[in-house]
Amino acid sequence: MDLINRFLKYVSFETTSYEDAECFPSSPKVFELADYLVDELKGIGLGDAMRDEYGYVYAHLEATPGVEADPIGLMSHMDTSSAVSGANIKPRILKYEGGDIQLNPEVAIKVSDFPDLDHYLGHELIVTDGTTLLGADDKAGIAEIVTAVEYLIAHPEVKHGRICLCFNPEEETGRGTEHIDTEKFGPKYAYTLDGDRLGGLEYECFNGAGVKFKVNGINIHPGSAKNKMKNAVLIGTELVGMFPAWEAPAHTEGYEGFYHVMGFEGDESGALISMIVRDHDRAKFEERKAYVRRVVDYLNAKYGEGTVELTMSDTYYNMRELVEPHMEIVDKAMDALRSIGVEPVVKPIRGGTDGAGLTYMGIPTPNLCTGGQNFHGVLEFCSIDEMKKMVEVIVKLVTADKWL
Ligand SMILES: [Zn+2]
Repeated sequence: MDLINRFLKYVSFETTSYEDAECFPSSPKVFELADYLVDELKGIGLGDAMRDEYGYVYAHLEATPGVEADPIGLMSHMDTSSAVSGANIKPRILKYEGGDIQLNPEVAIKVSDFPDLDHYLGHELIVTDGTTLLGADDKAGIAEIVTAVEYLIAHPEVKHGRICLCFNPEEETGRGTEHIDTEKFGPKYAYTLDGDRLGGLEYECFNGAGVKFKVNGINIHPGSAKNKMKNAVLIGTELVGMFPAWEAPAHTEGYEGFYHVMGFEGDESGALISMIVRDHDRAKFEERKAYVRRVVDYLNAKYGEGTVELTMSDTYYNMRELVEPHMEIVDKAMDALRSIGVEPVVKPIRGGTDGAGLTYMGIPTPNLCTGGQNFHGVLEFCSIDEMKKMVEVIVKLVTADKWL
């Protein structure tokens, strides 16, 4: 099967993952794609392909005889965001010749919203019918990896080291490496293919923490509440107001960290506020968390001990400090991109990746582009031209040269 038919087959599986589910994977539907992939990988010659009880797919292509190189990992996620439906996707292939792309009578990808659309002039694009996401995030990555491996099997003269594949569930819920078995996966270093436009290469992400504030109020009949009522809504509002308005996601970019209030619900007697804290710089990240604690201490001093209860835990860390001692793996990715005439675009990720989790488990894992755009929405599309180039990049990446 070729790259595009492979991709179209993968997006026919509904693999939405769900934030609030406690089970893993969050929906059993992802097993259907996982099992399909195991059959497909076995079919192209990866006899050890398997799926475990959590939904992870592992497979390996042994090194060309005589080649000694560090085993290299390639990883993409099978699940799609729950922000938009991922069921009954009706992809359409078109040649982009400029202007708006009408997906249905009501929905269009407009040049006025995406002025860099001219980047795709002359490309063949795969778009949705405007009612679902496409699933290029991240089935484009899976299709590119499988196609590159199929190429290597068909071309034994192209020498490579051991290649370790992992296709995982739950990236979109931030739990993509929760049950990964690094021994079964087996590489010394890896790359996630989970990015957008051609050229993208990332090895820096946020440090992240999740914060929950529980405000305990005292409710008294408002007619006789003087000096007695502790209104949790007002205390919660005061709490939120103590975080600098200009350090919110809507006012930050690049390396600027933020506090992001995600939820606020309650009444006079109790309120729950959820927040995330993000910063690329580890020291600044720790300062932000210390500030959160000071806000809570201040309110408890003002309104009485136990008025605000705090739960705060780290969700992921910036992989940069652990990738930097192995910059050769970033250089290798840059060389692979440049070898097919693509200039790498290195940017800090304003989020986390499965690669960050993996990096902290001992497998340094930068992230590479896949050729998709507008993820997590009905305007998602991918460029067939860029996907084909990424297959070439993967082949360059894994072929043994200076790793011998
Ligand atoms: Zn993704």
